[in-house]
Amino acid sequence: MNQAYGELFLLIDGQWISAKQRASSPVVNPATDEVIGHVPHATMADLERAIESTKKGFKVWKNTSAYERAKILRKAAGLLRERSEAIATTLTMEQGKPLFEARYEVGSAADYFEWFAEEGRRSYGRVVPSRSTAVQQLVKKEPIGPVAAFSPWNFPAITPSRKIAAALAAGCSIIIKPGEECPGTAIEIARALQDAGLPPGVLNVVFGEPSVISEFLIQSPVIRKVTFTGSVPVGRHLSELAGRALKPITLELGGHAPVVVCEDANLDATASILAAGKFRGTGQICLSPTRILVQRSVIEEFLAKFVKASQALKIGNGFDPDTKVGPLSNGRRIKAIGDMVADAKSKGARVMTGGERVPGKGLFWQPTILADVPADALVMHEEPFGPIAVVLPFDTLDDAIEEANRLPYGLAAYGFTESARNAVRLGNELEAGMIGINHTQMIVCELPFGGIKDSGQGSEGGAEGIQSYLVTKFISQV
Ligand code: NAD
Repeated sequence: MNQAYGELFLLIDGQWISAKQRASSPVVNPATDEVIGHVPHATMADLERAIESTKKGFKVWKNTSAYERAKILRKAAGLLRERSEAIATTLTMEQGKPLFEARYEVGSAADYFEWFAEEGRRSYGRVVPSRSTAVQQLVKKEPIGPVAAFSPWNFPAITPSRKIAAALAAGCSIIIKPGEECPGTAIEIARALQDAGLPPGVLNVVFGEPSVISEFLIQSPVIRKVTFTGSVPVGRHLSELAGRALKPITLELGGHAPVVVCEDANLDATASILAAGKFRGTGQICLSPTRILVQRSVIEEFLAKFVKASQALKIGNGFDPDTKVGPLSNGRRIKAIGDMVADAKSKGARVMTGGERVPGKGLFWQPTILADVPADALVMHEEPFGPIAVVLPFDTLDDAIEEANRLPYGLAAYGFTESARNAVRLGNELEAGMIGINHTQMIVCELPFGGIKDSGQGSEGGAEGIQSYLVTKFISQV
């Protein structure tokens, strides 16, 4: 057990339950292959207690004023900032991303708590003029009820915080199952909330076999709302479970982000922004730019600059201050990336840089750029969720937009151009929930985050983020 990595727990009804009395699974540092901890798995009895606890927690929390709720959320944000260095260290150990990115992520998680603390205070209803002066008509927003949330391992601080902060701000209680690969960060977030004064039962944290937990929680009559971030197939499955139980579900799923680089773009800036954006998080980001469509007249010049900018990114352990690209987070990604690169090569793709696993300890894969990738290659259809970019030529903007919109994904899309006319067309015609023109930084608490088509439903963040945790009640009073 590594000293810098704390013990891992379940949090049920305000009690921390360690792996000592439970089945558990190992947590592995993906940069060193070292086992750094063991995450306890909830038993069925634990899940039943979590349900009882969230029911009780909901009663307490919905009767706590929005003002008092906001105070606790803001205090938790402050504790996250105070503890940022320790939490970021935990995050880098379990997830692998560079420490500077982990620090940024913890700060972002705190931003979400502050943002939603205030949004909770602005969940206004309205008074509607009635047809009779004797009648008063109120439209109120109320918390939907206890929430079951499932968050992944790629952003272990932001993804649980976005769900927890919005649910709590609305007055809901929540049971969250964060990713088992990176449990330590979510535990620290829960600890900050508990230390800030969150009553027992308002937040429960469980780990275990994801399919067992999701099935149990979604079917429970106590749970009124489901939220999931992860892959399209799992999202589809959870959506079916939620549909059968008639529960609304928010889904943040995968993407295959297209990028349209017009011949009038600033190619130096575009190449360096895309190298940083593509290989950030080692490509394990749902917004990651994947199909880079470049106008034919500038494609070779762009490729040379993009390859150079990508080769300048240092791969290594996230604790090395020069590291820009950490390891992949688990063995599943190594296999998936290996299979995609081999498939593209066998079908005639040119490997412009990378294409190999880095030998030695850890799950490192070289930033990989592929050109001349045929339309039937796997990487042209499936989300790589890893450090692979595909560069393809286009002739007209119509062609680029058609290719960009070809896949059922619709999470993020990007355009690089100095032309206002092109920028307006790309903003209007690319089919995605989030569009970046001349940049790729899209994760900010005050903006809605979410996809369309198969990439999901609903938004987290922004003014929209709290709405899915609220229901509308109409009161007519004579
Ligand atoms: P996966 O589909 O097995 O798991 C993704 C996440 O869903 C994990 O956190 C996992 O614990 C959880 N999960 C899996 N089955 C579940 C179930 N039945 N009930 C509840 N939760 C469940 O894939 P993976 O190998 O962990 O990750 C790779 C894929 O996941 C990628 O291709 C990507 O599409 C997707 N992903 C997306 C995001 C995102 O931000 N949208 C984040 C992480 C992973």
